[in-house]
Amino acid sequence: MKDWSAALAAIGGADEIALLCHVGPDGDALGSMIGLGAALRARGSRVVASFGTATGEPFAVPPTYGFLPALDLLVKPDDFPVAPEVLVTFDTGSLDRLGSLADRVAAAGTSVVVDHHATNTRYGSVNLVDTDAAATAVVVAELLDRLDLPITAEVAAPLYTGLVTDTGSFKYVATTPAVHELAARLLATGIRHDLISRAIWDTASLPYVRLLGDVCSRAELDASAAGGLGLVWTTIRPDDLVRHGLGLADVEGVIDVVRTAQEAEVTAVLKGEPDSGAVRVSLRSKGVIDLGELCVPLGGGGHRYAAGFTSYDGFDSTLDRLRDALSSAPHLPA
Ligand code: 5GP
Ligand code: MN
Repeated sequence: MKDWSAALAAIGGADEIALLCHVGPDGDALGSMIGLGAALRARGSRVVASFGTATGEPFAVPPTYGFLPALDLLVKPDDFPVAPEVLVTFDTGSLDRLGSLADRVAAAGTSVVVDHHATNTRYGSVNLVDTDAAATAVVVAELLDRLDLPITAEVAAPLYTGLVTDTGSFKYVATTPAVHELAARLLATGIRHDLISRAIWDTASLPYVRLLGDVCSRAELDASAAGGLGLVWTTIRPDDLVRHGLGLADVEGVIDVVRTAQEAEVTAVLKGEPDSGAVRVSLRSKGVIDLGELCVPLGGGGHRYAAGFTSYDGFDSTLDRLRDALSSAPHLPA
């Protein structure tokens, strides 16, 4: 569903635009937001961008993405306009994923949702949702073309960040010829793709490497889960984070290591927020189970092979509910 004409009308003439992405932003959320923001500022609009934080956590850009240009577009949630005339959200499949800033959608004059999640609830007054797009950054690139705005290096670096993040470095199934063509166009602006990839994939702190060892060493296989397809799971407890001096934003990549275990169709990493007691569940499948659909009744969402939900009833019962849901999980067509 793509309301292009309504989106172009809202964004095309706006002097002031407010941008939001989901809590705990990843490369596609931040990159698609900053990419459009930089392009709109370059054409002369006043632009502010932000994202909500978990209760009690200070507002901070995840260190991994500190290399992005135009991060000065970001304002703290408290400084974000209460009732923006034009609001655009990025990579955010449902209202709750905006956290403390979710109320801005109802308060906005026009709210444009730019996203690619299969489970997107179309909560905007205008929705640019392309569930076939490899990344939200792909939808933003099309929006920029339709707005006739140039993709400069300052715009290309964040969009490339979104593209490389959500395709797992051009490995995942959504990586089409058009994705490579867009990547080529972005590289042609002269961006340092090598430094972007190094920052995203090949840079970690020693405390992170040690935490990875801890949580990988206690990964469990539940071979009977998911109707015998199997589940590999592990936890990142608040005391793991405290012991290694890390935050939730630092451990996003743990699941990419755990999910390489070939013994199971599904991988889960359960991450405990130190202050709120919330458990954030990251899930990956190898292609049989539709995890996005699985997560909707659990209060979450996502994509077919990568999804998640947030739970408030502790690690044990969260795992029980996950096993329950997996036992009758929706299978994708062969
Ligand atoms: P990750 O495991 O990398 O945090 O998230 C994988 C995918 O699941 C992302 O597309 C993300 O948007 C979605 N996701 C993760 N956690 C949640 C959640 O609590 N609620 C919703 N609606 N989606 C989530
Ligand atoms: Mn995305």
